[in-house]
Amino acid sequence: MIKHLRSAADLDAETATLILDTAGEMAALAGREVKKLPTLRGRTVVNLFYEDSTRTRISFEAAAKRLSADVINFSAKGSSVSKGESLKDTALTLQAMGADAVVIRHPASGAPHRLASWVDGSVINAGDGTHEHPTQALLDAYTMRSRLGKIDGLKVAIVGDVLHSRVARSNVLLLTTLGAEITLVGPPTLIPVDIAAALSPQTKVSYDLDSVLPDMDVVMMLRVQTERMQDSYFPSAREYSRRYGLDAPRMRRLPEHAIVMHPGPMNRGMEIAPEVADSSRSTIVEQVANGVSARMAVLYLLLGGKA
Ligand code: ASP
Repeated sequence: MIKHLRSAADLDAETATLILDTAGEMAALAGREVKKLPTLRGRTVVNLFYEDSTRTRISFEAAAKRLSADVINFSAKGSSVSKGESLKDTALTLQAMGADAVVIRHPASGAPHRLASWVDGSVINAGDGTHEHPTQALLDAYTMRSRLGKIDGLKVAIVGDVLHSRVARSNVLLLTTLGAEITLVGPPTLIPVDIAAALSPQTKVSYDLDSVLPDMDVVMMLRVQTERMQDSYFPSAREYSRRYGLDAPRMRRLPEHAIVMHPGPMNRGMEIAPEVADSSRSTIVEQVANGVSARMAVLYLLLGGKA
């Protein structure tokens, strides 16, 4: 088993499948009255969050607690980081406290890679800048597999602000490893030139959402990340939504069995219409529930558990 999960590229098909299978076992636990396993008793998991988060932070905390680990939550606001402490000095403090795993979210791409060179424990990337978010890709893959029965051969459209999306990058890497065919869709300003060549050459790119939809098994809508935009990438929110928003008429272009995903948080009415987000094709709430199982599986396997 790998020691760190810094990128979805750390996972080969066998390891990723083992994590998804283990997540399935963990999900079975969620239906029980007592949702706890003693597996990580006595181990310490630190959640180190330098950027805002709702789902991911709560999900990692719930996952570690369900495995009986001791959980320390650290958020940059209200800590010595606001006094200017560097990531390295914070890492050395965690090291001195004997953290077995550090879950890190950071605005700088590559921060988990640096951290892994400073601490002895496992490092898990919970989102680094615009780079990667591998556990989101795992929970998305798990959701696809549980709804559609497989990943190999699935046609998946990832739509919208690909440029700023760590979710998109991790999903392209993981899903192609598992045999899915990816099409990135969005305005040319939000799809990096050569992204397919850089991530996986078989990935396609399209600027026309309507023409792509009838062929897809999965459509994954991305949040338009205005907080990371320094320039104007499209004329107006209305124009964006007219060309790339998923509304009810557009959703009807999808095949009957196709599902609609979104990592959250959503800009309702922009990239996704409320009636689509709340429809029976939407897996958005399931993705959150599956996030806990997927993160339990990651913590369990990285910290030495067997399948
Ligand atoms: N929650 C995801 C992330 O942290 C997606 C998003 O923020 O749009 O990357």
